[in-house]
Amino acid sequence: MGFSTKAIHAAIEPDPVTGSIMTPIHLTSTYVQEELGKHKGYEYARVSNPTRTVLERQIAALEGGKEGLAFASGMAAISTIFSLLKSGDHVIASHDVYGGTYRLGKLILGNFQLEFDFVDTSDIDNLRNAIKPSTKMVFIETPTNPTMTITDLTAVGKICKSKKLISIVDNTFATPYLQTPLDYGIDIVVHSATKYLNGHSDMLGGLIVLNDPALIEQLRFLQKSIGGIMSPFEAWMCLRGMKTLAIRMDRHNANAMKVAHFLHNHRRVKKVNFPGLMSHPEHRLARKQMRGYGGMISFDLGSFDKAKELLKRVRLCALAESLGGVETLISHPVTMTHASVPPDQRKKIGVTDGLVRISVGIEDVEDIILDLNQALKGV
Ligand SMILES: *Cc1c(COP(=O)(O)O)cnc(C)c1O
Repeated sequence: MGFSTKAIHAAIEPDPVTGSIMTPIHLTSTYVQEELGKHKGYEYARVSNPTRTVLERQIAALEGGKEGLAFASGMAAISTIFSLLKSGDHVIASHDVYGGTYRLGKLILGNFQLEFDFVDTSDIDNLRNAIKPSTKMVFIETPTNPTMTITDLTAVGKICKSKKLISIVDNTFATPYLQTPLDYGIDIVVHSATKYLNGHSDMLGGLIVLNDPALIEQLRFLQKSIGGIMSPFEAWMCLRGMKTLAIRMDRHNANAMKVAHFLHNHRRVKKVNFPGLMSHPEHRLARKQMRGYGGMISFDLGSFDKAKELLKRVRLCALAESLGGVETLISHPVTMTHASVPPDQRKKIGVTDGLVRISVGIEDVEDIILDLNQALKGV
């Protein structure tokens, strides 16, 4: 089965009771049991819900994994993964992970004697050198947010296998349409389904996919114990959105490529970060491990004032956090998504005051470029 067919059919079957072609939204907290110890596989809705089950099987099919787990948000999924750790454990993460992941690791889990190191994993030697006896987990984003660096998934998979570390890839930016980390021996894939998977900026969700039976059992236990689960309505929304993932991503890819070239050739733009450009330092690696470059671009205008001016002048591009929806969103990482990352750390990872991030939508690309062009004139 091809990707688009899977996205529509993999786990979705007509409702056996009514024939309803769409998965019903099961709004129930509990399930009636026939007799003691005899039930239909569902006992209490925090543990499992039939609508959520379908979504969990769908995302597992798309990522090529055995099991999927759905959470209330990307951060709820990531917190649950970190709950696999014990005090004293050490985690290595990409140095420009999502701001919320940085905040969770550094400002919250530090209080529980979990140690986080953030290193530039686009140079795989940095990962090797950061491993110590207490290291238990490696958490990678590729492409990263917002500087779009790429990390070698084959190398991460190999290193983590040989050192017995749990490897995790946050696949939010690429989606399984463009990249399937489990194919590279990565243990766990995590998503903010809020972004491309749902794709319509109208829900929040987190998804995990994995293969290892022992880890599946542990994460299921943590999911029901911590309780940060996805609601049946959100699961239904996400199922609906995921059916069009392939055609949306094709359009995001094509539009972003054109916008990236436009920005690259514009004299007021100092630097463009987009893995599809030949000028991107890991362009060849991106071409090898991705089936397209996605819809995310960041670019540097040189100063905070210039970024502010551009963001004031855009009309079609909406000034907002988040990404991955059908509409083009534009944002300023330093004051928005990465505000909780300290200035010296921001400098180290290339999140400069003049950096602007754009989530290229699926509008007519001419309109996006016209809007950016008129806004850049005033910068
Ligand atoms: C948004 C995002 C998250 C967090 O997801 P939420 O659904 O907002 O909790 C994690 N990782 C990446 C890469 C994201 O873009």
